Amino acid sequence: GRLDDRVAIVTGAGRGIGRATALRLAADGASVVVNDIDAEPAAETVSLIEAAGGSALLHVADTVELEQAHGLTKAAVDGFGKLDIVVNNAGITRDKMFHGMTDEIFDFVLDVNLRTAFHTTLAAMPYLREVAKAEIAADGKVAYNRKIVFTSSVAALMGNPGQYNYTAAKGALIATTKTLARELGPFGINVNAVAPGFIETRLTQAKTDSSDLGIPQQMRDMSLMLIAMGRLGVPEDIANVHAFLVSSDADFVSGVTIPVTGGQLGG
Ligand code: NAD
Repeated sequence: GRLDDRVAIVTGAGRGIGRATALRLAADGASVVVNDIDAEPAAETVSLIEAAGGSALLHVADTVELEQAHGLTKAAVDGFGKLDIVVNNAGITRDKMFHGMTDEIFDFVLDVNLRTAFHTTLAAMPYLREVAKAEIAADGKVAYNRKIVFTSSVAALMGNPGQYNYTAAKGALIATTKTLARELGPFGINVNAVAPGFIETRLTQAKTDSSDLGIPQQMRDMSLMLIAMGRLGVPEDIANVHAFLVSSDADFVSGVTIPVTGGQLGG
């Protein structure tokens, strides 16, 4: 496959977009480190990959802690001998209109969406940048282009009421994609982001009064009307684009954010 002999980390791979991405990268030939904070669904992702004939290992960690990010990248190298691809997909919402925004949910949402990506990518540097540096020193060029992807959101491009914290984090991912692309390009590392639109997952389920996650049914209905393709997205729609961006087909794509929205008006 397109990713034969590549080793990939996918964060938040226990559910939704992360699980679909882990499955797709493995189907394309990559060995995948399946990371999540929740062991049970993540173990199920590994089982699904193995049942399909792919190669995966489970690593439960919360990379909000830098030490755990180091543990995650080390697990990839211990398990599969190297690290080539990082998909920073872990994310969470805690919606509140701005006048009710609190430090607690600001910090939480910034941590899970932005700090995990910062830490995981930082911990990957010895295996991406330093390895590339050594290759350049040895024979003047990198062996191939390694890949980093961030999962942003169309909410960061359009704005979204109730998501000051989430759009701050997802907007930062778009901005830092550009900076990292410039810093890491000389080492043969592509850095890109995907901005999903409305994708059916746990994050976007119809919200009940008692749930922290989810979107009011009225908003779900409204979103559907704005989507040119006439349907909400499924996790595979994003996995397809993640898989493209981490493949050699994207060797000359860097520093960009690709909206994957089904043609969402304004997105
Ligand atoms: P999801 O809730 O189905 O899956 C997210 C996974 O991340 C869960 O399994 C969760 O346990 C895990 N996770 C949470 N905190 C973590 C942490 N600290 N470390 C590791 N894993 C952690 O949600 P999803 O919709 O699949 O979201 C995946 C990504 O896509 C997120 O970054 C989300 O913000 C983004 N996104 C989703 C949509 C959408 O419509 N669903 C739209 C735009 C962006």
